[in-house]
Amino acid sequence: MRKNRGILKPVFVFDLDQTILDSDGIIQVRKPKNPNYNPLYDMSLYEKYMIPLTKEILEKAVELRKRGTISAIFLLSNNSDTKYILQVDAFLRDKFKQVSSLAPNVQHLKLYGSDFFFDNLHWRGSSTREDTSQNPVKSILDVEKMLEEVGLYNKYNYESRNQENTFLKHPLYDKIYFFDDLPDHVLHSQIEKSHSFVISKKMNASKVSDLLKNSKRSTQTKIKSRRSHRSTRRSAKNWIR
Ligand SMILES: [Mg+2]
Repeated sequence: MRKNRGILKPVFVFDLDQTILDSDGIIQVRKPKNPNYNPLYDMSLYEKYMIPLTKEILEKAVELRKRGTISAIFLLSNNSDTKYILQVDAFLRDKFKQVSSLAPNVQHLKLYGSDFFFDNLHWRGSSTREDTSQNPVKSILDVEKMLEEVGLYNKYNYESRNQENTFLKHPLYDKIYFFDDLPDHVLHSQIEKSHSFVISKKMNASKVSDLLKNSKRSTQTKIKSRRSHRSTRRSAKNWIR
């Protein structure tokens, strides 16, 4: 394990339902002649039902991952339908023509193949989920675990720092960007406020521009200071185009 402090770059964590795909919309699709038809498994619907804002974020995220500006893109879902989740991953892999180089390191994913879009996927009921209850919370410990599984993080490197003061923020608090349609997951409150995104149709594109600009330029310490400059905020729009 290499020393990670200062090396780990931002990590994007996405929810699935109503964040990446409008699955509430998908399940309304009916094929009266085929009562066994389950639209959730119909990959031909996914493009149409992608949440437009997340599509934009994902497009940029794959560029950033390719350049090494961000370390990883994770899926953290409370859906328990493994088949559906893996199909969404395969859809994104084909859409963006990008395969994760980290996912093959993840033990629990080996059951399901080797070519994944996401660098790690945790869903409700997946064997390595931090909280195995019926309604698991999404917490920073989930992301910590996902990072450990892909070999990007070792919490014991941070042990002494944690022991100094139990009220210290988690060492990953400024590394994680979280996208979820639900505002009440614990993870939102455990990370830097400006990295927490509640996905809705109201969220405007300039906010995404800010996010991506800062990911591009981010270093361990500079995110905060750059964010405070209004002029840099304005120029974000230019960067995204
Ligand atoms: Mg959701």
